[in-house]
Amino acid sequence: MSKVVKYVAGTLIFGLFTEIVYQIYVRLNSKKEDKKCITEVLFFPDLKVACKAHFTSIEGCNNRHCRYTHSGNSLSRLYNYLTLSRKSLDVCVFVLSCADLADILILVHKRGVMVRIITDNEQVNVQGSQIWRLRSEGKFSCLFSGIIVRTDNSSFFMHHKFVVIDNEILINGSFNWTRQAITGNQENLVVMNDPEIVQQFQTEFENMWTEFDPRVTYMKTTEDT
Ligand SMILES: [Zn+2]
Repeated sequence: MSKVVKYVAGTLIFGLFTEIVYQIYVRLNSKKEDKKCITEVLFFPDLKVACKAHFTSIEGCNNRHCRYTHSGNSLSRLYNYLTLSRKSLDVCVFVLSCADLADILILVHKRGVMVRIITDNEQVNVQGSQIWRLRSEGKFSCLFSGIIVRTDNSSFFMHHKFVVIDNEILINGSFNWTRQAITGNQENLVVMNDPEIVQQFQTEFENMWTEFDPRVTYMKTTEDT
């Protein structure tokens, strides 16, 4: 066997060996990624309302007489998940009257996250509702619109309470976004990132988002008349 043939054969074998090692490395690492699953359950009520500044701002809480808690609880975990969002935050909730949670939505909206909200029309004007504030205060420059809120205007309730974060994490349970739900009611939220489950909720959100588009509702109304 000539030296040239030996050299080519050696190079091919070495190339094949490094490719096999590389593929094994890639597969092992992809399996590690797969294992990073989120499964958590948050139960309410919390004893006290978690301090928003302490858990969501870099500066932390500067109030020496802060009346909120700096100890982690279910609400602080919810704050953490919501502020994890980088691309999109799709919120579907029957009642939204908690100013602290509305503040979080405005915060992530100002970071450039696309925040969309679906709620029930009968809850928009109840005492303490944050919907009009979200629609108006979400506007922070001429380049960005306020947070878009769509409502189910049928005679039935839009009774879901779920959030999809970046099309990757689902938060779902009994929890309405009210102060009473945080410190009074027995409530639960399941947090998970199972892709199949998340995708089903994302699809449900998109379907309702289209169904409750005011332009679609208007067209249906004009077609019926
Ligand atoms: Zn505080």
